Amino acid sequence: MIHSLNFRLLAAFGLVIIVIIGSVFFFTYRTTHGEISRFGERVESMQDKRVELELSRYYQMMRTWDGIQPFVVQWGNLYGRRIILADNEGTVVADSEETLLGSLCTDASPGQPMTPMMGTGTIGLLRISHGESPDINRAALQITYGTIGRFFLWAGLLAVAIALLLTFFLSRRILAPVKALGDAAREYGKGNFSRRVDSKGKGEVGELARSFNSMAENLEHTERLRRNMVADVAHELRTPLSNLTGYLEAIDDGVIKSDKNTIRSLNEEASTLSRLIDDLHELSLADAGELKLVTRPEDISRLIKETVTALQSKAAAKGLTISADLPDGIPEVKIDSHRIRQVLHNLLVNAVAHTGKEGRITVTARHREDRLYISVTDTGEGIPAEDLPMIFERFYRVDKSRARATGGTGLGLTIAKRLVEAHGGTIDAESQPGQGSTFTFTLPVSI
Ligand code: ADP
Repeated sequence: MIHSLNFRLLAAFGLVIIVIIGSVFFFTYRTTHGEISRFGERVESMQDKRVELELSRYYQMMRTWDGIQPFVVQWGNLYGRRIILADNEGTVVADSEETLLGSLCTDASPGQPMTPMMGTGTIGLLRISHGESPDINRAALQITYGTIGRFFLWAGLLAVAIALLLTFFLSRRILAPVKALGDAAREYGKGNFSRRVDSKGKGEVGELARSFNSMAENLEHTERLRRNMVADVAHELRTPLSNLTGYLEAIDDGVIKSDKNTIRSLNEEASTLSRLIDDLHELSLADAGELKLVTRPEDISRLIKETVTALQSKAAAKGLTISADLPDGIPEVKIDSHRIRQVLHNLLVNAVAHTGKEGRITVTARHREDRLYISVTDTGEGIPAEDLPMIFERFYRVDKSRARATGGTGLGLTIAKRLVEAHGGTIDAESQPGQGSTFTFTLPVSI
Protein backbone atom coordinates (compact mmCIF):
# COMPACT_ATOMS: atom_id res chain seq x y z
CA MET A 1 0.00 0.00 0.00
CA ILE A 2 2.68 2.50 1.08
CA HIS A 3 4.81 1.58 -1.93
CA SER A 4 1.97 1.86 -4.44
CA LEU A 5 2.33 4.69 -6.94
CA ASN A 6 -1.23 5.76 -6.18
CA PHE A 7 -0.45 6.32 -2.52
CA ARG A 8 2.84 8.04 -3.28
CA LEU A 9 1.15 10.45 -5.68
CA LEU A 10 -1.52 11.21 -3.09
CA ALA A 11 1.07 11.81 -0.39
CA ALA A 12 3.20 14.00 -2.68
CA PHE A 13 0.25 16.14 -3.77
CA GLY A 14 -1.07 16.43 -0.19
CA LEU A 15 2.34 17.58 1.00
CA VAL A 16 2.67 20.12 -1.81
CA ILE A 17 -0.78 21.56 -1.04
CA ILE A 18 -0.06 21.83 2.69
CA VAL A 19 3.27 23.54 2.01
CA ILE A 20 1.65 26.00 -0.44
CA ILE A 21 -1.22 26.88 1.90
CA GLY A 22 1.15 27.14 4.87
CA SER A 23 3.46 29.51 3.07
CA VAL A 24 0.58 31.62 1.67
CA PHE A 25 -0.82 31.85 5.20
CA PHE A 26 2.55 32.80 6.64
CA PHE A 27 3.20 35.59 4.13
CA THR A 28 -0.38 36.88 4.27
CA TYR A 29 -0.24 36.90 8.05
CA ARG A 30 3.07 38.76 8.14
CA THR A 31 1.98 41.34 5.58
CA THR A 32 -1.41 41.89 7.26
CA HIS A 33 0.25 42.13 10.64
CA GLY A 34 2.60 44.90 9.41
CA GLU A 35 -0.19 46.74 7.61
CA ILE A 36 -2.45 46.67 10.66
CA SER A 37 0.31 47.96 12.95
CA ARG A 38 1.04 50.82 10.56
CA PHE A 39 -2.69 51.56 10.25
CA GLY A 40 -3.04 51.62 14.06
CA GLU A 41 -0.10 54.00 14.40
CA ARG A 42 -1.59 56.34 11.83
CA VAL A 43 -4.98 56.34 13.55
CA GLU A 44 -3.29 57.10 16.88
CA SER A 45 -1.23 59.96 15.52
CA MET A 46 -4.36 61.42 13.90
CA GLN A 47 -6.14 61.20 17.23
CA ASP A 48 -3.22 62.96 18.95
CA LYS A 49 -3.34 65.70 16.32
CA ARG A 50 -7.05 66.04 16.89
CA VAL A 51 -6.60 66.48 20.67
CA GLU A 52 -3.95 69.11 19.97
CA LEU A 53 -6.25 70.91 17.51
CA GLU A 54 -9.19 70.90 19.92
CA LEU A 55 -6.98 72.31 22.68
CA SER A 56 -5.72 75.09 20.37
CA ARG A 57 -9.24 75.96 19.38
CA TYR A 58 -10.30 76.11 23.03
CA TYR A 59 -7.48 78.40 23.91
CA GLN A 60 -8.17 80.67 20.93
CA MET A 61 -11.79 80.93 21.96
CA MET A 62 -11.28 81.27 25.73
CA ARG A 63 -7.83 82.95 25.86
CA THR A 64 -7.22 80.87 29.01
CA TRP A 65 -6.81 77.23 30.05
CA ASP A 66 -9.38 77.57 32.79
CA GLY A 67 -12.20 75.07 32.47
CA ILE A 68 -10.24 72.72 30.15
CA GLN A 69 -9.89 69.90 32.72
CA PRO A 70 -13.29 68.17 32.03
CA PHE A 71 -12.58 68.15 28.29
CA VAL A 72 -9.14 66.61 28.79
CA VAL A 73 -10.67 63.93 31.04
CA GLN A 74 -13.31 63.24 28.38
CA TRP A 75 -10.78 63.00 25.51
CA GLY A 76 -8.49 60.87 27.62
CA ASN A 77 -11.30 58.38 28.20
CA LEU A 78 -12.48 58.63 24.62
CA TYR A 79 -9.10 57.82 23.04
CA GLY A 80 -7.68 55.73 25.87
CA ARG A 81 -4.76 58.14 26.45
CA ARG A 82 -3.11 59.88 29.31
CA ILE A 83 -3.29 63.57 28.36
CA ILE A 84 -1.30 66.12 30.40
CA LEU A 85 -1.52 69.83 29.55
CA ALA A 86 0.80 72.43 31.06
CA ASP A 87 0.89 76.18 30.60
CA ASN A 88 3.97 78.00 29.32
CA GLU A 89 5.51 77.99 32.80
CA GLY A 90 5.24 74.20 33.01
CA THR A 91 2.43 74.03 35.58
CA VAL A 92 -0.01 71.23 34.82
CA VAL A 93 -3.42 72.79 34.07
CA ALA A 94 -5.18 69.62 32.99
CA ASP A 95 -4.55 65.90 33.48
CA SER A 96 -6.88 63.19 32.20
CA GLU A 97 -6.09 61.18 35.31
CA GLU A 98 -6.21 64.31 37.55
CA THR A 99 -3.17 63.33 39.69
CA LEU A 100 -0.67 65.92 38.43
CA LEU A 101 -2.99 68.95 38.45
CA GLY A 102 -1.18 72.08 39.69
CA SER A 103 2.22 70.36 39.87
CA LEU A 104 5.20 71.14 37.71
CA CYS A 105 5.48 69.03 34.61
CA THR A 106 8.80 67.18 34.64
CA ASP A 107 10.51 64.67 32.39
CA ALA A 108 9.45 62.01 34.85
CA SER A 109 5.83 62.65 33.98
CA PRO A 110 4.33 59.85 31.88
CA GLY A 111 4.51 59.93 28.11
CA GLN A 112 6.58 61.69 25.49
CA PRO A 113 8.13 65.16 26.00
CA MET A 114 5.64 67.96 25.51
CA THR A 115 5.29 69.67 22.20
CA PRO A 116 4.59 73.37 22.30
CA MET A 117 1.11 73.85 20.94
CA MET A 118 0.87 76.36 18.17
CA GLY A 119 -1.78 78.98 18.50
CA THR A 120 -0.53 82.53 18.37
CA GLY A 121 2.94 81.69 19.65
CA THR A 122 3.47 78.95 22.22
CA ILE A 123 0.37 78.48 24.32
CA GLY A 124 1.31 75.49 26.38
CA LEU A 125 2.94 72.09 26.57
CA LEU A 126 1.12 68.88 25.77
CA ARG A 127 2.08 65.35 26.71
CA ILE A 128 0.06 62.44 25.40
CA SER A 129 1.03 58.96 26.44
CA HIS A 130 -0.13 55.65 25.04
CA GLY A 131 -0.53 52.43 26.93
CA GLU A 132 1.98 49.58 26.48
CA SER A 133 0.17 48.20 23.41
CA PRO A 134 -2.31 50.51 21.81
CA ASP A 135 -5.83 49.14 21.98
CA ILE A 136 -6.54 49.60 18.31
CA ASN A 137 -3.52 47.50 17.35
CA ARG A 138 -4.42 44.75 19.73
CA ALA A 139 -7.99 44.64 18.47
CA ALA A 140 -6.91 44.62 14.83
CA LEU A 141 -4.38 41.88 15.45
CA GLN A 142 -6.98 39.80 17.15
CA ILE A 143 -9.07 40.12 14.01
CA THR A 144 -6.09 38.93 11.96
CA TYR A 145 -5.47 35.96 14.20
CA GLY A 146 -9.10 35.13 14.46
CA THR A 147 -10.84 35.82 11.18
CA ILE A 148 -7.98 35.37 8.71
CA GLY A 149 -6.56 32.42 10.59
CA ARG A 150 -9.94 30.71 10.62
CA PHE A 151 -10.43 31.54 6.96
CA PHE A 152 -7.12 29.97 6.05
CA LEU A 153 -7.73 26.94 8.20
CA TRP A 154 -11.06 26.18 6.56
CA ALA A 155 -9.94 27.18 3.06
CA GLY A 156 -6.83 25.05 3.54
CA LEU A 157 -8.76 22.03 4.76
CA LEU A 158 -11.21 22.37 1.89
CA ALA A 159 -8.40 22.75 -0.66
CA VAL A 160 -6.57 19.70 0.74
CA ALA A 161 -9.77 17.65 0.65
CA ILE A 162 -10.65 18.68 -2.93
CA ALA A 163 -7.08 18.26 -4.11
CA LEU A 164 -6.74 14.83 -2.55
CA LEU A 165 -10.03 13.76 -4.06
CA LEU A 166 -8.97 15.03 -7.51
CA THR A 167 -5.54 13.47 -7.15
CA PHE A 168 -7.10 10.18 -6.18
CA PHE A 169 -9.26 10.05 -9.32
CA LEU A 170 -6.61 11.57 -11.60
CA SER A 171 -3.89 9.25 -10.39
CA ARG A 172 -6.17 6.27 -11.02
CA ARG A 173 -6.64 7.52 -14.57
CA ILE A 174 -2.94 8.21 -15.07
CA LEU A 175 -1.89 4.91 -13.55
CA ALA A 176 -4.45 2.78 -15.38
CA PRO A 177 -2.20 2.37 -18.48
CA VAL A 178 0.78 1.57 -16.24
CA LYS A 179 -1.27 -1.13 -14.56
CA ALA A 180 -2.37 -2.44 -17.96
CA LEU A 181 1.30 -2.58 -19.00
CA GLY A 182 2.16 -4.52 -15.85
CA ASP A 183 -0.64 -7.03 -16.56
CA ALA A 184 0.46 -7.39 -20.19
CA ALA A 185 4.10 -7.92 -19.14
CA ARG A 186 2.97 -10.63 -16.71
CA GLU A 187 1.01 -12.34 -19.49
CA TYR A 188 4.10 -12.11 -21.63
CA GLY A 189 6.13 -13.80 -18.92
CA LYS A 190 3.67 -16.69 -19.13
CA GLY A 191 4.26 -16.98 -22.87
CA ASN A 192 1.18 -15.21 -24.22
CA PHE A 193 2.94 -13.20 -26.94
CA SER A 194 -0.19 -11.93 -28.65
CA ARG A 195 -1.06 -9.52 -25.83
CA ARG A 196 -0.94 -5.78 -26.75
CA VAL A 197 -1.78 -2.65 -24.76
CA ASP A 198 -3.77 0.43 -25.72
CA SER A 199 -1.18 2.76 -27.26
CA LYS A 200 -3.38 5.72 -28.18
CA GLY A 201 -2.30 7.74 -25.13
CA LYS A 202 -0.09 10.79 -25.49
CA GLY A 203 3.04 11.67 -23.51
CA GLU A 204 5.48 9.36 -21.76
CA VAL A 205 2.95 6.70 -20.79
CA GLY A 206 1.66 6.48 -24.39
CA GLU A 207 5.27 6.30 -25.57
CA LEU A 208 5.93 3.49 -23.11
CA ALA A 209 2.85 1.61 -24.35
CA ARG A 210 3.98 2.00 -27.97
CA SER A 211 7.51 0.80 -27.10
CA PHE A 212 6.00 -2.15 -25.28
CA ASN A 213 3.84 -3.03 -28.28
CA SER A 214 6.72 -2.79 -30.70
CA MET A 215 8.85 -4.93 -28.37
CA ALA A 216 5.98 -7.42 -28.17
CA GLU A 217 5.70 -7.38 -31.96
CA ASN A 218 9.42 -8.13 -32.34
CA LEU A 219 9.33 -10.85 -29.73
CA GLU A 220 6.32 -12.48 -31.31
CA HIS A 221 7.99 -12.30 -34.71
CA THR A 222 11.22 -13.80 -33.33
CA GLU A 223 9.26 -16.51 -31.57
CA ARG A 224 7.39 -17.31 -34.78
CA LEU A 225 10.69 -17.44 -36.68
CA ARG A 226 12.17 -19.74 -34.06
CA ARG A 227 9.21 -22.12 -34.27
CA ASN A 228 9.27 -22.07 -38.07
CA MET A 229 13.01 -22.61 -38.03
CA VAL A 230 12.71 -25.70 -35.88
CA ALA A 231 9.92 -27.03 -38.11
CA ASP A 232 11.89 -26.23 -41.29
CA VAL A 233 15.08 -27.81 -40.00
CA ALA A 234 13.24 -30.96 -38.97
CA HIS A 235 11.64 -31.09 -42.40
CA GLU A 236 14.90 -30.54 -44.28
CA LEU A 237 16.76 -33.14 -42.25
CA ARG A 238 14.03 -35.69 -42.77
CA THR A 239 14.49 -35.97 -46.57
CA PRO A 240 18.17 -37.03 -46.74
CA LEU A 241 17.73 -39.13 -43.60
CA SER A 242 14.72 -41.02 -44.99
CA ASN A 243 16.64 -41.49 -48.26
CA LEU A 244 19.50 -42.98 -46.26
CA THR A 245 17.26 -45.27 -44.23
CA GLY A 246 15.38 -46.21 -47.42
CA TYR A 247 18.61 -47.30 -49.10
CA LEU A 248 19.75 -49.20 -46.03
CA GLU A 249 16.41 -51.01 -45.64
CA ALA A 250 16.40 -51.89 -49.34
CA ILE A 251 19.93 -53.33 -49.03
CA ASP A 252 18.85 -55.20 -45.92
CA ASP A 253 15.82 -56.62 -47.74
CA GLY A 254 18.02 -57.56 -50.68
CA VAL A 255 16.00 -55.28 -53.01
CA ILE A 256 19.19 -53.48 -54.08
CA LYS A 257 22.75 -54.66 -53.98
CA SER A 258 25.33 -52.92 -51.85
CA ASP A 259 27.59 -52.24 -54.81
CA LYS A 260 29.76 -49.20 -55.65
CA ASN A 261 26.80 -47.22 -57.04
CA THR A 262 24.70 -47.74 -53.95
CA ILE A 263 27.55 -46.70 -51.71
CA ARG A 264 28.05 -43.54 -53.82
CA SER A 265 24.34 -42.68 -53.42
CA LEU A 266 24.54 -43.27 -49.69
CA ASN A 267 27.60 -41.06 -49.57
CA GLU A 268 25.82 -38.27 -51.45
CA GLU A 269 22.90 -38.32 -49.04
CA ALA A 270 25.29 -38.25 -46.08
CA SER A 271 27.21 -35.29 -47.51
CA THR A 272 23.94 -33.41 -48.16
CA LEU A 273 23.16 -33.92 -44.48
CA SER A 274 26.56 -32.74 -43.40
CA ARG A 275 26.37 -29.67 -45.73
CA LEU A 276 22.98 -28.85 -44.30
CA ILE A 277 24.30 -29.04 -40.77
CA ASP A 278 27.32 -26.87 -41.64
CA ASP A 279 25.07 -24.27 -43.30
CA LEU A 280 22.67 -24.27 -40.37
CA HIS A 281 25.54 -23.76 -37.98
CA GLU A 282 26.80 -20.81 -40.04
CA LEU A 283 23.31 -19.34 -40.18
CA SER A 284 22.71 -19.69 -36.45
CA LEU A 285 26.01 -17.88 -35.80
CA ALA A 286 24.95 -15.06 -38.14
CA ASP A 287 21.48 -14.87 -36.54
CA ALA A 288 23.00 -14.63 -33.08
CA GLY A 289 25.36 -11.88 -34.31
CA GLU A 290 28.31 -14.11 -33.45
CA LEU A 291 29.81 -14.32 -36.89
CA LYS A 292 33.46 -13.45 -36.27
CA LEU A 293 34.94 -11.65 -39.27
CA VAL A 294 38.70 -11.56 -39.67
CA THR A 295 38.98 -8.56 -41.96
CA ARG A 296 41.97 -7.05 -43.70
CA PRO A 297 42.49 -5.16 -46.99
CA GLU A 298 42.17 -7.62 -49.86
CA ASP A 299 42.66 -7.50 -53.60
CA ILE A 300 39.09 -8.37 -54.58
CA SER A 301 39.98 -8.84 -58.30
CA ARG A 302 42.33 -11.67 -57.39
CA LEU A 303 39.74 -13.23 -55.09
CA ILE A 304 37.13 -13.16 -57.90
CA LYS A 305 39.52 -14.68 -60.44
CA GLU A 306 40.51 -17.48 -58.04
CA THR A 307 36.88 -18.35 -57.25
CA VAL A 308 35.98 -18.37 -60.93
CA THR A 309 38.93 -20.64 -61.71
CA ALA A 310 37.91 -23.04 -58.95
CA LEU A 311 34.52 -23.55 -60.63
CA GLN A 312 35.80 -23.62 -64.20
CA SER A 313 35.90 -27.42 -64.51
CA LYS A 314 32.43 -27.82 -63.00
CA ALA A 315 31.07 -25.27 -65.49
CA ALA A 316 32.91 -26.84 -68.37
CA ALA A 317 31.44 -30.24 -67.48
CA LYS A 318 28.01 -28.70 -68.07
CA GLY A 319 29.12 -27.02 -71.28
CA LEU A 320 29.11 -23.53 -69.77
CA THR A 321 31.59 -20.70 -70.06
CA ILE A 322 32.41 -18.81 -66.94
CA SER A 323 34.55 -15.67 -66.89
CA ALA A 324 35.44 -12.55 -64.93
CA ASP A 325 35.21 -9.15 -66.58
CA LEU A 326 37.05 -6.79 -64.26
CA PRO A 327 38.15 -3.20 -64.94
CA ASP A 328 41.55 -1.95 -63.79
CA GLY A 329 41.90 0.06 -60.63
CA ILE A 330 39.46 -1.82 -58.40
CA PRO A 331 40.52 -0.65 -54.92
CA GLU A 332 41.37 -2.97 -52.09
CA VAL A 333 38.49 -3.61 -49.68
CA LYS A 334 38.59 -4.55 -46.04
CA ILE A 335 36.89 -7.93 -45.91
CA ASP A 336 37.06 -11.41 -44.45
CA SER A 337 38.30 -13.04 -47.67
CA HIS A 338 37.15 -16.51 -46.61
CA ARG A 339 33.54 -15.30 -46.17
CA ILE A 340 33.37 -13.20 -49.34
CA ARG A 341 34.83 -16.13 -51.29
CA GLN A 342 31.97 -18.19 -49.86
CA VAL A 343 29.39 -15.59 -51.02
CA LEU A 344 30.81 -15.57 -54.51
CA HIS A 345 31.08 -19.35 -54.53
CA ASN A 346 27.39 -19.73 -53.51
CA LEU A 347 26.29 -17.34 -56.27
CA LEU A 348 28.43 -19.08 -58.88
CA VAL A 349 27.30 -22.58 -57.84
CA ASN A 350 23.67 -21.42 -58.18
CA ALA A 351 24.40 -19.87 -61.58
CA VAL A 352 26.00 -23.09 -62.78
CA ALA A 353 23.12 -25.15 -61.41
CA HIS A 354 20.45 -23.01 -63.08
CA THR A 355 22.06 -22.38 -66.44
CA GLY A 356 21.68 -24.78 -69.31
CA LYS A 357 24.15 -25.96 -71.92
CA GLU A 358 26.12 -23.29 -73.82
CA GLY A 359 25.13 -20.75 -71.26
CA ARG A 360 27.40 -17.97 -70.09
CA ILE A 361 28.24 -16.84 -66.58
CA THR A 362 30.06 -13.54 -66.05
CA VAL A 363 31.38 -11.89 -62.91
CA THR A 364 31.79 -8.11 -63.09
CA ALA A 365 32.90 -5.50 -60.58
CA ARG A 366 32.61 -1.73 -60.54
CA HIS A 367 33.50 0.97 -58.10
CA ARG A 368 31.00 3.79 -57.50
CA GLU A 369 31.58 6.37 -54.78
CA ASP A 370 32.18 4.48 -51.54
CA ARG A 371 30.85 1.09 -52.71
CA LEU A 372 32.09 -1.82 -54.73
CA TYR A 373 29.40 -3.58 -56.81
CA ILE A 374 30.07 -7.21 -57.66
CA SER A 375 27.61 -8.96 -60.01
CA VAL A 376 27.19 -12.55 -61.12
CA THR A 377 25.17 -12.71 -64.33
CA ASP A 378 24.00 -15.89 -65.99
CA THR A 379 22.00 -16.71 -69.11
CA GLY A 380 20.06 -19.42 -67.34
CA GLU A 381 16.43 -20.20 -66.60
CA GLY A 382 15.83 -17.05 -64.52
CA ILE A 383 13.53 -16.65 -61.53
CA PRO A 384 9.79 -15.89 -61.73
CA ALA A 385 8.90 -12.40 -60.46
CA GLU A 386 6.69 -13.78 -57.67
CA ASP A 387 9.58 -15.86 -56.27
CA LEU A 388 12.20 -13.15 -56.53
CA PRO A 389 11.41 -11.37 -53.22
CA MET A 390 11.61 -14.70 -51.34
CA ILE A 391 14.76 -16.31 -52.63
CA PHE A 392 16.93 -14.93 -49.80
CA GLU A 393 14.70 -16.58 -47.19
CA ARG A 394 16.03 -19.77 -45.72
CA PHE A 395 14.94 -23.06 -47.34
CA TYR A 396 13.15 -21.16 -50.10
CA ARG A 397 13.40 -22.93 -53.43
CA VAL A 398 11.71 -21.96 -56.65
CA ASP A 399 11.36 -25.52 -57.88
CA LYS A 400 11.09 -27.37 -54.58
CA SER A 401 11.39 -30.99 -55.66
CA ARG A 402 14.10 -30.46 -58.26
CA ALA A 403 16.28 -28.18 -56.14
CA ARG A 404 16.37 -30.68 -53.31
CA ALA A 405 17.19 -33.42 -55.75
CA THR A 406 20.19 -31.43 -57.01
CA GLY A 407 21.57 -31.32 -53.50
CA GLY A 408 20.93 -27.66 -52.70
CA THR A 409 20.26 -26.95 -49.05
CA GLY A 410 18.07 -23.90 -49.75
CA LEU A 411 20.39 -21.92 -47.48
CA GLY A 412 23.01 -20.72 -49.97
CA LEU A 413 21.46 -17.31 -50.65
CA THR A 414 20.38 -16.80 -47.03
CA ILE A 415 23.95 -17.34 -45.88
CA ALA A 416 25.30 -15.11 -48.68
CA LYS A 417 22.96 -12.32 -47.57
CA ARG A 418 23.97 -12.63 -43.91
CA LEU A 419 27.67 -12.62 -44.77
CA VAL A 420 27.38 -9.57 -47.03
CA GLU A 421 25.33 -7.71 -44.41
CA ALA A 422 27.90 -8.58 -41.75
CA HIS A 423 30.39 -6.68 -43.96
CA GLY A 424 28.05 -3.64 -44.10
CA GLY A 425 26.92 -4.43 -47.66
CA THR A 426 23.69 -5.36 -49.43
CA ILE A 427 22.64 -8.04 -51.88
CA ASP A 428 19.80 -8.27 -54.37
CA ALA A 429 18.73 -10.08 -57.49
CA GLU A 430 17.22 -9.18 -60.84
CA SER A 431 15.92 -11.74 -63.26
CA GLN A 432 14.16 -12.25 -66.56
CA PRO A 433 12.60 -15.71 -66.56
CA GLY A 434 13.96 -17.69 -69.50
CA GLN A 435 16.80 -15.21 -70.10
CA GLY A 436 18.89 -15.21 -66.99
CA SER A 437 19.57 -13.64 -63.60
CA THR A 438 21.93 -11.13 -62.10
CA PHE A 439 22.89 -11.24 -58.44
CA THR A 440 24.66 -8.10 -57.20
CA PHE A 441 26.25 -7.53 -53.83
CA THR A 442 27.95 -4.40 -52.55
CA LEU A 443 30.85 -3.90 -50.19
CA PRO A 444 31.80 -0.63 -48.53
CA VAL A 445 35.12 0.80 -49.66
CA SER A 446 36.87 2.81 -46.98
CA ILE A 447 38.83 5.52 -48.77
P1 ADP B 1 19.77 -23.77 -53.07
O1 ADP B 1 20.61 -24.52 -52.15
O2 ADP B 1 18.46 -24.46 -53.35
O3 ADP B 1 20.46 -23.32 -54.29
P2 ADP B 1 19.76 -21.02 -52.48
O4 ADP B 1 19.39 -20.28 -51.26
O5 ADP B 1 21.14 -20.89 -52.93
O6 ADP B 1 19.35 -22.50 -52.26
O7 ADP B 1 18.79 -20.56 -53.63
C1 ADP B 1 17.41 -20.47 -53.40
C2 ADP B 1 16.64 -20.68 -54.66
O8 ADP B 1 16.81 -19.55 -55.53
C3 ADP B 1 17.09 -21.87 -55.47
O9 ADP B 1 16.46 -23.03 -55.05
C4 ADP B 1 16.71 -21.49 -56.87
O10 ADP B 1 15.36 -21.84 -57.09
C5 ADP B 1 16.80 -19.98 -56.87
N1 ADP B 1 18.04 -19.49 -57.53
C6 ADP B 1 19.18 -19.14 -56.94
N2 ADP B 1 20.10 -18.72 -57.85
C7 ADP B 1 19.51 -18.82 -59.05
C8 ADP B 1 19.94 -18.54 -60.40
N3 ADP B 1 21.17 -18.06 -60.68
N4 ADP B 1 19.06 -18.75 -61.39
C9 ADP B 1 17.82 -19.24 -61.13
N5 ADP B 1 17.37 -19.53 -59.90
C10 ADP B 1 18.19 -19.34 -58.87
